[in-house]
Amino acid sequence: MRYSVASVITKALGGNKGWGRAWRDPAPKPSYDVIVVGGGGHGLATAYYLAKEHGIRNVAVLEKGYLGGGNVGRNTTIIRSNYMIDGNTRFYELSMKLWEGLSHDFNYNAMVSHRGIFNLAHTPGQYDAFAYRGNVMRSNGIDAEILDREEVRKEIPVLDYSEKARFPVYGALVQRRAGTARHDAVAWGYARGADMHGVDIIQNCEVTGFLRKGDSIIGVETTRGEIRAKKVAMAVAGHTSVLAAKAGMTRLPLESHVLQAFVSESIKPLVDTVITFGAGHFYVSQSDKGSLVFGGDLDGYNSYAQRGNLPIVEHVITEGKALIPCTSRLRMLRHWGGVMDMSMDGSPIIDFTPTPGLYLNTGWCYGGFKAVPGSGWVFAHLIAKDETHPLAAKFRLDRFRTGRPIDEKGAGPVPGHH
Ligand SMILES: Cc1cc2nc3c(=O)[nH]c(=O)nc-3n(C[C@H](O)[C@H](O)[C@H](O)COP(=O)(O)OP(=O)(O)OC[C@H]3O[C@@H](n4cnc5c(N)ncnc54)[C@H](O)[C@@H]3O)c2cc1C
Repeated sequence: MRYSVASVITKALGGNKGWGRAWRDPAPKPSYDVIVVGGGGHGLATAYYLAKEHGIRNVAVLEKGYLGGGNVGRNTTIIRSNYMIDGNTRFYELSMKLWEGLSHDFNYNAMVSHRGIFNLAHTPGQYDAFAYRGNVMRSNGIDAEILDREEVRKEIPVLDYSEKARFPVYGALVQRRAGTARHDAVAWGYARGADMHGVDIIQNCEVTGFLRKGDSIIGVETTRGEIRAKKVAMAVAGHTSVLAAKAGMTRLPLESHVLQAFVSESIKPLVDTVITFGAGHFYVSQSDKGSLVFGGDLDGYNSYAQRGNLPIVEHVITEGKALIPCTSRLRMLRHWGGVMDMSMDGSPIIDFTPTPGLYLNTGWCYGGFKAVPGSGWVFAHLIAKDETHPLAAKFRLDRFRTGRPIDEKGAGPVPGHH
């Protein structure tokens, strides 16, 4: 069923009966044209665009848990395209353009909110670096503004502008089209959209190994039996190393890290944009329910546990309080962890693997949610056409061998530095 004003009114008058499932719950078929492993944002978007843009509908998404249980439902929901490095700028802008039409495209309200993002600068040097970034964005046709301290104060009065502020606000880089999207609605919208195009979404189905014929992958072993496929695509976010090892790829340039998200009690409107604190690593927005949703640094150790540790709770909240002092009396409601795969240059990998029939999407680190539409788009292109999409040309795996990292952070190809 397509959602529309008429269907909402009719169902409301009928006591909201008869909505039906948002997506089917099929048993796995013995074989598919494409299996996408991982029912997170990237896997679901890939399946959706495979079906919708390339007409490949005999597709299954295999998810070991439930949809939205991974990072796609655990992140701080920030979407933006304020990138600087060649290879990143135009890719993230593709994603932003897709975000702009997403709810209409898959007929589901993903609650995309273009409330803007303010990257705060706290020194003249940082301000100059943001001005440079803004100019790169503008020269690529991406919206960017540079505001000085007084202009920032007018728009975000709650920051600490006092004499005693440890990190005075100097100015900000602003992208007005950036913002947030309701994370689990994104997963559900893609799932429903893919299902409407015939894709089988199979939850509680863990891929435990791969079926081979000679050198090629011809399917997967799962907790629900063997399933064959012409092509198998991995989009398992923080678990790539575990799964890839089962296909014989034991030396991927990845580390798996825990990153936490935090939610406060609900309060009246305080922050109507997304703010990032340039003197530390803190980012905050306010949800439609009134909670402040925020995050900070990685937990700093490698783990597959989807929970965080207390020192980081203290660290992140200290940063939040330094930036917005009135939050000191706010109660924290929840925090949780997500597991992210970080590549050695902090940029993603979207590519073939050395094993015929196996395709790889990984390495998203902090930035993978905003990339979901663009990543699904270019990964579907790769799988459908066996050809790299021009906007993913720099995301090849061999850059770690050839020495061409896409290093947005400028930290070098160093573990844990992104
Ligand atoms: C706390 C936190 C805050 C973040 N904030 C932001 C943000 O504000 N903006 C932003 O752009 N990015 C953010 N990110 C990063 C972003 O969320 C991730 O990079 C991105 O969501 C990862 O892709 P995904 O959605 O496909 O992952 P997931 O949702 O984790 O999907 C992968 C799926 O694969 C499944 N899987 C794993 N192994 C198997 C197997 N063997 N068989 C079957 N299924 C398997 C998992 O169960 C999981 O559901 C944040 C991440 C975290 C953790």
